[in-house]
Amino acid sequence: MPNYQDEGYINKLLKEAEGASPGEISCILDKAARFEGLTPFEVAALLSTNSRELRARLFEVAFSIKKHIYGDRIVMFAPLYVSDYCVNGCLYCGFRCGHDYKRRRLTMDEVRREAELLERMGHKRLAVEAGEDPENCPLSYILEVIKTLYETKTGSGGRGDSQSGGYGEIRRVNVNIAATTVDEYRQLKDAGIGTYILFQETYHQPTYEKMHPSGPKSDYRWHTEAFDRAMEAGVEDVGGGVLFGLYDWRYEVLALMLHNEHLEQKFGVGFHTISLPRIRHAEGATLGKWRNAVTDSDFLLLTAILRLAVPYTGMIISTRETKEMRKDLIRCGVSQMSGGSTVEVGGYSLRERKAAQFSVQDERTPQEILLWLMDEDLIPSFCTACYRKGRTGDRFMSLAKSGQIKNVCLPNALMTLAEYARDYGSPAFKEKSAKLISRKTDGIPDENIRAEVRGNIERISGGASDLYL
Ligand code: SF4
Ligand code: SF4
Repeated sequence: MPNYQDEGYINKLLKEAEGASPGEISCILDKAARFEGLTPFEVAALLSTNSRELRARLFEVAFSIKKHIYGDRIVMFAPLYVSDYCVNGCLYCGFRCGHDYKRRRLTMDEVRREAELLERMGHKRLAVEAGEDPENCPLSYILEVIKTLYETKTGSGGRGDSQSGGYGEIRRVNVNIAATTVDEYRQLKDAGIGTYILFQETYHQPTYEKMHPSGPKSDYRWHTEAFDRAMEAGVEDVGGGVLFGLYDWRYEVLALMLHNEHLEQKFGVGFHTISLPRIRHAEGATLGKWRNAVTDSDFLLLTAILRLAVPYTGMIISTRETKEMRKDLIRCGVSQMSGGSTVEVGGYSLRERKAAQFSVQDERTPQEILLWLMDEDLIPSFCTACYRKGRTGDRFMSLAKSGQIKNVCLPNALMTLAEYARDYGSPAFKEKSAKLISRKTDGIPDENIRAEVRGNIERISGGASDLYL
């Protein structure tokens, strides 16, 4: 049994780490500050510390890692729910099979319509989400969705006026669908997916089995070992996550890091991203009280510890968090967020409120979120360059670990923001973003890259699209 599935091993590690002295914790923080990542034992030691001073230092280190590796950019994406048919009975989810309501799956015309709306919001990167139902939502349907999304373009390209609506296209489709076979993962890879995302929900097997009483997902090993099969099939970027609140968060963080270690040892590369969903009320969910609900302060702490442990892994939050929490989470190391999202099938077209999978906390429009990020001196980014340049899997990780990733992230963030502003920005947005872009471009340390970005921004204002390093 791999360590991340082994309850006895995880509890033993947590217990042993409780004895870590302040001196040892300090050494662990020094190591993290050198961007070296952490071993599972070191993660367990940080999880056990209650010292106010050491925690304050931990947050400082998380912020400095975030600044050093990712700079000021925040990558934007949107989820796209395409089907809420589901044969699983997950107790915490409104899409669970026992919940009686009218379900649907988008037709390809509807997928196209949703894609057009998302493109008009400026999105270039989507996460396709679907419940598990081999009959109503087979893999062939998901493959068709991916193809349709990549083919859907809006606007005439580069005119940047309100009549053309800007030049819209989806450049990266990530997929969050149920655990499946090596053969089906191979088909997803061939369809050109970016990251394959799967939330482990909880690593604690007894809790997992209680929360998943029926359906294929009730098989703990089938679900938790899905990334092994995906990577065997050649999918290079996989994204993990835990639904925080189902079980003790310290246990989950450590198990998540053991899972990462397992993938690194077996495939040479760990998680490309980690998503940080936290349990919320969902209409139709059967569980009402969350004994293990994670407080805001613990949630910030666990995010910061993950930032220290895996400095090169993207960390993602969704609209489930409030504006205030999003701001603090960014300081703790979050590098990607969704904006203007709906979590309903066909929700961008309908914006219906019925049968949402989870309730959404941050309901600002995408442009409001972008304006807010810029007010915080952050650069909203619509970049999808790495995937399209073949910088995936271990090639991505070696670039990240060499410290070079910032040299492409920042220029790409600036160029994609310029393209967004030209195509979709209000006059106030254009003004604000132009100032930010100019100031941040001036701050690019490498003279050649600085000149290239300036040239490209001029080309973008002259009509060019999709420029990236
Ligand atoms: Fe289905 Fe996923 Fe909801 Fe479980 S969490 S009921 S698998 S949609
Ligand atoms: Fe992400 Fe690569 Fe773009 Fe940076 S350059 S934002 S890592 S796709």
